[in-house]
Amino acid sequence: MNNKEKLLEVEKECREADLPLRKTSKNLVFGKGNSNAKIMFIGEASGRLEDEKGIPFVGAAGKNLDKLLDKVGLSLEDVYVANILKYRPPENRDPLPEEIEAHTPYLLKQISVMRPKIVCSLGNYATKFFLSGGKVGEMKNQVGITQVHGAVKDIEINGVKIRLIPLFHPAAIIYNRSLESEWEKDMEIVKREIKQKTLF
Ligand code: URA
Repeated sequence: MNNKEKLLEVEKECREADLPLRKTSKNLVFGKGNSNAKIMFIGEASGRLEDEKGIPFVGAAGKNLDKLLDKVGLSLEDVYVANILKYRPPENRDPLPEEIEAHTPYLLKQISVMRPKIVCSLGNYATKFFLSGGKVGEMKNQVGITQVHGAVKDIEINGVKIRLIPLFHPAAIIYNRSLESEWEKDMEIVKREIKQKTLF
């Protein structure tokens, strides 16, 4: 089985699971991009548009993510994009620990299939999840994205060694324009790291 087929199996399993938020959502938002990519971008949870289409990062935050990819010379053909939560929380409220606990086994399965070399975690939730090595109970002990954005760290998650690059969430840039210059500097770090690792 190739990665695409393996991911389809995981997606099927995820769709059939009785996950929290499933009943209040319109669609499962599992992932998009190249199933053989060695770089993953992981966000928090789908918003209204993503929920309607069943595809991550298709709304305003997605436009910023597309700009980031473009700026570092990548496209959706080079990366895979997914979220911590696979269904939208009502009114885009913050994910609850028990939702993260129930949904992230599917993210870990995506990672086991793809074995990425680089993961860019977008925003607080994704960053804290990775910095905790996938232990949801430890996420509350992690510092926030403002302190760790751009700080590259080699970690191991589910037996997969990855280079983690924490980034501000692309939606944060929309609401806080003052983050833009930090965001630009972080993109230079992403560019440097993807050049260093022989990914493609
Ligand atoms: N924000 C996210 O974290 N993920 C999406 O898919 C869309 C917006």
